[in-house]
Amino acid sequence: MRIPQRRRCNLEIEMTTLSYQSSVASSSTPSLCVQNVTKSYPTPADPLVVLRDVSFSLSPGDRLAIIGPSGSGKSTLLNILGTLDQPTSGTVSIEGVNPFSLSAKKLAHFRSEKIGFVFQDHHLLPQCSALENVLVAKLALGRVADDDAQRAGELLREVGLEGRATHLPAELSGGERQRVAIARALMNSPRLLLCDEPTGNLDTKTGAAVGELLTRLAQQTNAILIAVTHSPALAEMFPRKMGMVDGKLE
Ligand code: ADP
Ligand code: MG
Repeated sequence: MRIPQRRRCNLEIEMTTLSYQSSVASSSTPSLCVQNVTKSYPTPADPLVVLRDVSFSLSPGDRLAIIGPSGSGKSTLLNILGTLDQPTSGTVSIEGVNPFSLSAKKLAHFRSEKIGFVFQDHHLLPQCSALENVLVAKLALGRVADDDAQRAGELLREVGLEGRATHLPAELSGGERQRVAIARALMNSPRLLLCDEPTGNLDTKTGAAVGELLTRLAQQTNAILIAVTHSPALAEMFPRKMGMVDGKLE
């Protein structure tokens, strides 16, 4: 199925034909290793230290909630795990690959292939339908095949939105928009699903439904799920919980 010309997303996503080859670790070994990661920002006075010696590792299927006060460094850590930002020191390994050793093009491809993001604000493209927003994940990999639209439709059905494929984001409720964002995050079958306050804009009941959905989908795909949250109810759905306090993960 083709995206109709009249609604074709006005994206500037670089079409890449890179054939990225990653060395995939076995599923019994940690596929995410974070070692001694620090992050600091220069200031006119002393550097602002945001992450202090963060280390942990997770295996496929692990689900971790990170809880902590505002400003403690949660989003900074998630951005580094998502390869959107680089650590000042320390290492991150995702399925045996140091993403920060890749060229910018290869890193963009690696990120699209391996990592799914769900943000507090859904970040959907307002001019694109729910189905097109899910398909956008494929554009980032440089190829949209005919069966991708079918898979996007199946994902929308999986998140309970089969009757909403042609709706624009403005025509959806907050919970529905977040479910489209989850379907988009899963479109490339990521091994790492990163969620930054995924229920932060939702009421308690809708937030619980989104939390259950994330849990179910991560279990189905055996992906690593990491969610940063202020919500004790959401954190309770995760087998592993860690607290971020002043840049330290405990
Ligand atoms: P959280 O997600 O836990 O609320 P953040 O990771 O967003 O916290 O931010 C942690 C700290 O890092 C904050 O004090 C913030 O001001 C600071 N910070 C984040 N990004 C930058 C940046 N690009 N430059 C300088 N300081 C930053
Ligand atoms: Mg944050």
